[in-house]
Amino acid sequence: MAGIEPQPRIMDIALYQGGASHVPGLSNVLKLSSNENPFGVPASAREAMVAAAAGMHRYPPTDHAALRGAIGEVHGLDPERIICGVGSDEVITFLCQAYAGPGTEVIHTEHGFSMYRISALAAGADPVEVRERARVVDVDAILAAVTGQTRLVFVANPANPTGTMIGAAETERLAAGLPESCLLVLDGAYAEYVDGFDGGAALAGARENVFMTRTFSKAYGLGGLRVGWGYGARSVIDVLNRVRGPFNLSGPALAAAEAAVRDQDWVAWSRSENARLRAELAQALAELGLPSDTACANFIVPRFASPAAAEACEAHLRGKGILVRKIGGYGLPDALRITVGTDADCARVVDAVRDWREQG
Ligand SMILES: *Cc1c(COP(=O)(O)O)cnc(C)c1O
Repeated sequence: MAGIEPQPRIMDIALYQGGASHVPGLSNVLKLSSNENPFGVPASAREAMVAAAAGMHRYPPTDHAALRGAIGEVHGLDPERIICGVGSDEVITFLCQAYAGPGTEVIHTEHGFSMYRISALAAGADPVEVRERARVVDVDAILAAVTGQTRLVFVANPANPTGTMIGAAETERLAAGLPESCLLVLDGAYAEYVDGFDGGAALAGARENVFMTRTFSKAYGLGGLRVGWGYGARSVIDVLNRVRGPFNLSGPALAAAEAAVRDQDWVAWSRSENARLRAELAQALAELGLPSDTACANFIVPRFASPAAAEACEAHLRGKGILVRKIGGYGLPDALRITVGTDADCARVVDAVRDWREQG
């Protein structure tokens, strides 16, 4: 019998590795492996979701008009140029499905988020990895890698897992240097953590070949809800809506996200607490001999003397019930990614690292 064969590139997909959440035999586990908001869910979103639960026998709206309207109001954007997805992951999937495919190339960078490669392969396209410069996205290297087959370029800004950023002049230079057939996707998953940063909204507003993705999973504290959105040219939104499932977001999820986006006090508070705690954590780890790049998001990436040292420290932390992320799979084997937690969480990390240092 002829085998049932998947489409080309599907078997090249390595399964996404999520942050661990359990340690066998330990109950007091501190999960700092997925860049979630340590302060939890905003009360505004929780209340909206509970209220919406009474309507769960009804199909949700398919146009997401209320959520798009709220996002538009808060960010000063045209709601007609917004699309909502099941996390920004789904918006990334739509982009690859609609614009990439067999015979095309999708650019991501050396330490870039793994969903770009996964979504490109799922669409049958060829992912192209471009080197970075000392853990920072390199615009010249991206421009040099563009070919006549390139359809999408994915850049997270701030980036994950490096936590570094490029400035507005650099993103503008990248957008201006790409051929017209190529869409630049600025992934603003951590934009809320950068005071005064628009995530690339102005550039996406001004240029047809720039698209911005955003999420409710990080600063908004709703990673478990799965809501994200994208903003770009009307022509692109029109294309993406054709591949979007009509009922991709549930009614309770839409209601919670709408309440959350209107709750900018929560976002401002999360941003300022994160900035304070991140600086303290980075300094304390640096004093223990673990330097990190200036971090722009809600995690820091301490570097170790060797991959073996990073592995040993991760294992030590895990033994104490603290889960952080190994990032060897992202080309950073001598580093760990640690989400910035609460005051108590950060103190627990620093104590455990000090303990590991003293043992080693
Ligand atoms: C967390 C993250 C996302 C968000 O994914 P969701 O599907 O919205 O939860 C997107 N991009 C990057 C770089 C991320 O780190």
